[in-house]
Amino acid sequence: FLLKVTHMSRARIVRTGIAAGLLGVALLMAGTGYLAWTLVVQHTAERLETLARLASQRADSTVAQAAAALRELNRSPLPPCSAEGIEQMRLLVIDTLAVKAVGYVEEEVFACSSWGVEGHALEQWPEDLRTADGIGVSINVQPSVTSAKPMLALRDAAFNLLLDPEHFLETSLAPGVSLALGTPAGHWLGTPANGFAHFLARIHGEPHTALRDGYLYTRVRHANWQTVAAVTREEILRDLWRELLMLAPLALLLSGLWCWLVARRVRASLSPLAMLTRAVANGEFSAFYQPILDLRDGRCIGAEALVRWPRADGSVVMPEGFLALAESSGLIEAITAQVISTACRELGPSLASGQLQHVSINLSAQDVASGNFLPRLLEARQRAGIAAQSIWLEVTEGSLLSIDAAHRRLAQSREAGHPIALDDFGTGYSSLQYLRRLPLDQLKIDRSFVQSLSAGTPCPVTDHTIAMARQLELLLVAEGIESDEQLQYLRQRGVHYGQGWLFGKAMPRDEFLAYVASHHWRAAS
Ligand code: C2E
Ligand code: MG
Ligand code: MG
Repeated sequence: FLLKVTHMSRARIVRTGIAAGLLGVALLMAGTGYLAWTLVVQHTAERLETLARLASQRADSTVAQAAAALRELNRSPLPPCSAEGIEQMRLLVIDTLAVKAVGYVEEEVFACSSWGVEGHALEQWPEDLRTADGIGVSINVQPSVTSAKPMLALRDAAFNLLLDPEHFLETSLAPGVSLALGTPAGHWLGTPANGFAHFLARIHGEPHTALRDGYLYTRVRHANWQTVAAVTREEILRDLWRELLMLAPLALLLSGLWCWLVARRVRASLSPLAMLTRAVANGEFSAFYQPILDLRDGRCIGAEALVRWPRADGSVVMPEGFLALAESSGLIEAITAQVISTACRELGPSLASGQLQHVSINLSAQDVASGNFLPRLLEARQRAGIAAQSIWLEVTEGSLLSIDAAHRRLAQSREAGHPIALDDFGTGYSSLQYLRRLPLDQLKIDRSFVQSLSAGTPCPVTDHTIAMARQLELLLVAEGIESDEQLQYLRQRGVHYGQGWLFGKAMPRDEFLAYVASHHWRAAS
């Protein structure tokens, strides 16, 4: 019932919950994607840097080895172009892995090489760099001794060596990985693949590690060389996919955990207690007023304020829908406070002007036990200019936990000027006890007795209650009058006041005030 009438706010809570769940999952997914991407880029950059460093080191050691061989030749006492000298050069080619040929230059003429006596004019190879120990290096020279691929030439005094660039560059690279070795000025060894050569030209002077033009690359400067290792975007995306698959279980677990937390939170906010707590905090409770008439002349003398919980969708929750929960959860005192201030504010002018004599307020067990309602009542009624006599207080037997405590509190209220009524009289087990021991002004005959009355058939319990009230000099109010027969019966026995659907149901303030204004004529009946 409670959940049905609160459909609107329930839908909003569910919507907010779904939004929070989806947002959390989206953020988690985005975070996982970002983490995977960062990890892949970081790992790949590290891998590329290692590769580039190794290539640089290998280049340095190859050049150093060749340089040592050159120095050895320069120191040799053998005449270079003699049979022994050429033999020595040939042995050097066989012994030194990267070296393909050795040459000797004499007076600007290419005199002999490891291939034999040459004797033709010397080709000019531009020097690309000079090592710390004074060896000149030319990159990509086209040797005259062979029409093969471009070579790396090293020169020390009259001797020179041709080195195979393949020994500088790793040949078994992982898929998508490219490697280039060159001078700091950007003169590259060998012939990089077409696209990669363009890329190398574009990144000249750029930062050391970056993502650019479909590659992730790392550049390493080492002694006389620069090495660039790069991997294509396709390869990185493949790694990213693998990384995502690895992180997926964790992301799914966290998403599940988040959804579970949100669902738990939503369930908790949808619980009747959570909704009631919110309603109390928002001051959502109001009062409807049921007319109480003087049965002798039919005048509406006042009203009983009955709490109502209006909902956003226009429905109204009746007390039976939330009072038990309010009492068990301790929220009832705050609700009573809202009813008190609403009733004083809404009926204040009519009570102050004397158009109405009173309004009855229902108290719960906790109100009576704590007495907190009294200062609130005082404040509300003073603000509205209402006399204490105009606010009647109703207590039920069930609402009195201990007669002694209740006695103290009710006596206090009575001293303040509020008449006290015992509500639903006759429905409890010990009504007579209460009657004897509590400071009371009125008895409200429960509607179950009134409803058992029908014309002509006297009800002994009702009759005795009426007689007893008269003896105790208590004012009598009959509840739940629904028919003329019941009204006549009660009237004949001198019951003073009555309320019930025969006169009017509980209604909002404006309707009630209109009722008071238009039902004066009933006095005539
Ligand atoms: P109650 O104080 O005995 O109030 C009378 C109840 O009987 C009201 O129900 C009223 O609408 C209903 N009633 C009045 N005339 C007739 C009739 O002719 N026929 C029938 N069948 N019913 C009639 P309601 O408003 O649902 O209130 C139920 C109970 O909730 C009240 O019984 C009262 O005990 C409690 N209550 C209402 N407002 C408050 C409040 O502000 N504070 C506390 N603590 N309890 C309240
Ligand atoms: Mg009542
Ligand atoms: Mg009652």
